[in-house]
Amino acid sequence: MIIKPRVKDFICLTSHPEGCKEAVRRQIEYVKSQPKVELGKKVLVIGASTGYGLASRIVSTYASDAATIGIIFDKPAAKRTATAGWYNTAAFEEFAHKDGYYARTINGDAFSQAIKDKTIELIKKDLGQIDMVVYSLAAPRRTVADGTTYSSVLKTVDEPFTAKTLNLKTNELAEATLPPATPEEVQATIKVMGGEDWADWMHALKAAGVLTENATTVAYSYIGSKITYPIYYEGTIGLAKNHLYKVADDLRAEGFNAEVSVNKALVTQSSSAIPIVPLYVAVMYRVMKDKHVHEGTIEQIYRLWKDFLSKDKPLVDEKHRIRIDDYEMSDEVQKAIFEHWEKITNENLNELADVDGYWDDFYKLFGFNFDNVDYDADVDQDVKIDLVE
Ligand code: NAD
Repeated sequence: MIIKPRVKDFICLTSHPEGCKEAVRRQIEYVKSQPKVELGKKVLVIGASTGYGLASRIVSTYASDAATIGIIFDKPAAKRTATAGWYNTAAFEEFAHKDGYYARTINGDAFSQAIKDKTIELIKKDLGQIDMVVYSLAAPRRTVADGTTYSSVLKTVDEPFTAKTLNLKTNELAEATLPPATPEEVQATIKVMGGEDWADWMHALKAAGVLTENATTVAYSYIGSKITYPIYYEGTIGLAKNHLYKVADDLRAEGFNAEVSVNKALVTQSSSAIPIVPLYVAVMYRVMKDKHVHEGTIEQIYRLWKDFLSKDKPLVDEKHRIRIDDYEMSDEVQKAIFEHWEKITNENLNELADVDGYWDDFYKLFGFNFDNVDYDADVDQDVKIDLVE
């Protein structure tokens, strides 16, 4: 069939298998062009099919020659195309296997005990022990052992917040007001996006004896600019990330080699769903591209491996967080972002914000917009992955 993008709000309902393969190929090419990094050789990536998790799997494989197990939550093609994460994973496995690397994937709910058990069984059978765990889930909901489902919300805490935003339907500036969350919504967001499940994974892996003695684990966070503080850093998601830092402290106190890396804002399926953030990202892309310090997920994660995690004592901030958001948060970049933000109008929008760059990244997440992919060609949407059953 011929697959075209079908965008609805902040999501694209279709994905292109050849385009997703191209996205993965380009990330692999980038890593292959960089020096090798001595880090985890047997790596579990939880949330491995898109965004920062996919980049982590690619960097582990191609920078550190690692065997990887990926946990994903994706759908194969049925009436619709498969999800982008499905096509990304199929492409990644194809490249990795061709290049002689072990790569197996489990598709299912990473929050569940069943998937944890299945992962442990696979590690025992194929790898014995693993020496690195990457936790890169971004999920809208989580069902816990007693069957209760918690849904995360992207809201403020205490006060409503009004700010400029980009209307993703018209590409014009608009104003958005975010309501404050109820205390229950705050707790639910912490349940989903906090660190509880990360700790559950680490405890389960340790209890099963499948972690090497010095195994490293890393989870990802975001802080961002004062512009987005009320919605992100001080909002429900920020409170969930505070919980993640607390869990990292607890894991370290228990003897785990646990780190949180604060990454740069980038267009991913999760970040495009956060109100106000897309406009901030478009302004930030303009500033960082102009200053030649822009990075994508793959450049960010390669730098995390090379300059931080592979060091004996990675450089951390006063709250023990690795800061690969350093370029985004530099005074120079933030000052320019503030200036653009103050001055921005519909008339100068494309000058002060990289709206085209935002959309280009967005379409590429779903395998569209690659100049070397023929989107008029007939493609088979039914791509197989040899999943662990
Ligand atoms: P993403 O949506 O691209 O990736 C999320 C991954 O989690 C996908 O592979 C998805 O399939 C998987 N997943 C979701 N629910 C799952 C479940 N129940 N079971 C198994 N897998 C599941 O998101 P991302 O932006 O790469 O986010 C990953 C992490 O990076 C998050 O902790 C996020 O807060 C953090 N982060 C993101 C940004 C950003 O701007 N995108 C910036 C800094 C930090």
